[in-house]
Amino acid sequence: METLRFQVVGEAFKKKPLVPSTPDERPSAYYGKKVFNREKMYRYLPKNVYEKMIDVMDNGAQLDRSIADAVAAGMKQWAVENGVTHYTHWFQPLTEGTAEKHDSFIEHDGKGGMVEEFTGKLLVQQEPDASSFPSGGIRSTFEARGYSAWDPTSPVFIIDDTLCIPTVFISYSGEALDYKAPLLRALHAVNVAATDVCHYFDPSVKKVVSNLGWEQEYFLVDEGLYAARPDLLLTGRTLMGHDSAKNQQMDDHYFGSIPERVAAFMRDLEIQALELGIPCKTRHNEVAPNQFELAPIFEETNLAVDHNMLLMSLMKRVARKHSFRVLLHEKPFDGINGSGKHNNWSLSTDNGILLHAPGKTPEQNLRFAVFIVETLMGVYRHNGLLKASIMSATNAHRLGANEAPPAIISSFLGRQLTELLDHIELADKDDLLSVAGKQGMKLDIPEIPELLIDNTDRNRTSPFAFTGNRFEFRAVGSEANCASAMTALNSAVAEALVSFKKRVDQKIAEYSKDSKYSEGTGHSPKYHAIIDVLRDDIKACKPIRFDGNGYSEEWKAEAARRGLDTETSCPKIFERYLDEASIKMFESLGVMTKKELEARNEVKWETYTKKIQIEARVLGDLSMNHIIPVATRYQSQLLSNVQNMAAIFPADKAAQLSARNMKLIEEIAERTSKIECLVEELVNARKVANKIASEHDKAVAYHDTIEPKFDEIRYHIDKLELIVDDSCWTLPKYRELLFIR
Ligand code: ADP
Ligand code: MG
Repeated sequence: METLRFQVVGEAFKKKPLVPSTPDERPSAYYGKKVFNREKMYRYLPKNVYEKMIDVMDNGAQLDRSIADAVAAGMKQWAVENGVTHYTHWFQPLTEGTAEKHDSFIEHDGKGGMVEEFTGKLLVQQEPDASSFPSGGIRSTFEARGYSAWDPTSPVFIIDDTLCIPTVFISYSGEALDYKAPLLRALHAVNVAATDVCHYFDPSVKKVVSNLGWEQEYFLVDEGLYAARPDLLLTGRTLMGHDSAKNQQMDDHYFGSIPERVAAFMRDLEIQALELGIPCKTRHNEVAPNQFELAPIFEETNLAVDHNMLLMSLMKRVARKHSFRVLLHEKPFDGINGSGKHNNWSLSTDNGILLHAPGKTPEQNLRFAVFIVETLMGVYRHNGLLKASIMSATNAHRLGANEAPPAIISSFLGRQLTELLDHIELADKDDLLSVAGKQGMKLDIPEIPELLIDNTDRNRTSPFAFTGNRFEFRAVGSEANCASAMTALNSAVAEALVSFKKRVDQKIAEYSKDSKYSEGTGHSPKYHAIIDVLRDDIKACKPIRFDGNGYSEEWKAEAARRGLDTETSCPKIFERYLDEASIKMFESLGVMTKKELEARNEVKWETYTKKIQIEARVLGDLSMNHIIPVATRYQSQLLSNVQNMAAIFPADKAAQLSARNMKLIEEIAERTSKIECLVEELVNARKVANKIASEHDKAVAYHDTIEPKFDEIRYHIDKLELIVDDSCWTLPKYRELLFIR
């Protein structure tokens, strides 16, 4: 019989019968129940106001202040009917997670009573006391106050008794202090650039939207065990812990049947997420024990980002009700898979065309090739920046480790797409663009049957893989706000499309003057121009294409030869945001100014330092007040055993019988003294680093001189865990944390 050293809080749960909380309802019935969506706008707003709101949401029309009061009144009515008493501007500061400050609807009615009030002014703009959010010095240097402003493209929703209003958060001098403002600007930029390029093929396209389907991976740990691990509690990951004898070697967890207790949690989570309009679709076990995934149906990127932020906070709440803790950290356990958040990304037009999906006609496939190649151009030009966009102190542990993408951005295309691009690049141009009698031009662009885009040759090691009708950016961290990656990616692609358009237009103008080309004869200047520029770009972006094994050592060397960014130090990777090419891109598209980029990098470096600092403290504390005392106590037991042996047996015999214990006593002495020395070195290294004034240099010092000590300390602790009596070890071990009972 296995004995449990810790109380597993969720044990009791198994005994309860499982009853779904809304037994009679189908998800389609409660989907969006807590969202002020179009259907509710239609019901609660006057017709003219409803129509204006739709125009604002669909066509980016300016929000007319005069309708704000009417919208607020409709929202309030709906909210109050649903038991809501408070409202909050909900925003995404540069910390993790979201921020909110709740105000009640209550106002004096002037007659001695109270009345629920909510005006357009309160809906549209607020001034949260923002002085303690990280801003990289923007506020202190330029303008003390910041304000939050309603983002009408993401609907308001209800959590408990509060109406939550998605907002951007900006300083009075106009700098973005959050994730959402630059994202919205990048989405606007890619819309404009992609719509322009679409017009070569279809002049009726009015708008291009960016889509995002994220896949959220996470671990669950029993609340009781979590509470007994100060490192998990304070840093989100285990800073020590020997491998469990069984972990993921058997691959028996992936897609395995979901444990009952976990299934109940998932069901509860999904009901609440669906009520909030998050279209949850997929759930399954992941590769590592206790690791799971949830994925919704993809949505417009801004909404998808909000939904992911909402889901992460919902997960934490629901988990606690089930006596679980959710671990969103990218690498909570050493030696087994970490968690990511694959970002499935694509562009589509207002008339329903997926621009990254192959079409049926040669012309459609030319357009498809243009969007694929220009996406690759953006990713190639800004591969270092894209890596910076997903990098963090926590994700740094995952990249390059088991099953995670390597710390080099490259793109996998698969055989069929590779063949298509090769054909466009290498075929004789007269064959590609041949005259076909009266019909004008014949484009020799081969068809790719949609179904044939095989999922079978999916390359799991690629950080940016083509998967049939989208790209999957797999390097995003599980804990991250997707907005960071989405801002960088959409901007990079927007820039590539702008450049493509400019060059094609130049060539069209040039060819139109040449009698060799004339519209209607088959030698259309437009198609010649598109093909010529596309061929240049297919050649230019080749270094980013890599279908091989991203884990191999050869790839690292090859990538460096190709000029791809191979930096692995997190604080140095952040420098890519301040490269001339990055600043030029963000500024030319109106996404971020140099000043904003500099301020944000200060925040990134500062956050990095703080994270490592906290880990260093926790590791030092646990070493000194858990590990060394426990090991020493056990050592004393061994010592008295040795003394007792000597008292009873003749010296020779006693020595022989105590040989093993003597070895253990020595080993414990050696390891505890090494731990002590290393912890002292750690403290001293911190003292040195803390004196550095520049946030960049401090972060680099933490990376170079402090972090490397963690593994050295851990090594000795994990060895001690193997020899110290199990019943005295104070921390739950991997084998306990990793298997839900
Ligand atoms: P996987 O096989 O990669 O684990 P999943 O089904 O878990 O796939 O998740 C794929 C995600 O990609 C879902 O959110 C899905 O809605 C999304 N997706 C599918 N097609 C597109 C597309 N064209 N653009 C963006 N996201 C997409
Ligand atoms: Mg996937």
